[in-house]
Amino acid sequence: MTCRNNRKEKITKHVTHIPRVYVNNYLKATRGKSLKAAVQAMCLECTGYQKLEVRDCTALACPLYAVRPYQTPRQRHTVPNESKEVTKQSA
Ligand code: SF4
Repeated sequence: MTCRNNRKEKITKHVTHIPRVYVNNYLKATRGKSLKAAVQAMCLECTGYQKLEVRDCTALACPLYAVRPYQTPRQRHTVPNESKEVTKQSA
């Protein structure tokens, strides 16, 4: 069995554990056509498919934190300033 076939098989199996409403997004992500879909799929999986848990995520050091879906507009505005401070401090 090739690695590619193995991946297809794993994806097909994984889909059975995803709520139906999120399956298309997951499949889009696995096709490699959308980083946004990939981040959304990862965050949803991380939280057990709870949108509010993604929005209120407390894993501040997670690499996806700043770009996670379901943020409020206020959350989006606070993250870039924090990123600049970190960059300045590390330079
Ligand atoms: S940002 Fe939060 S919800 Fe998204 S993957 Fe990271 S820890 Fe999980």
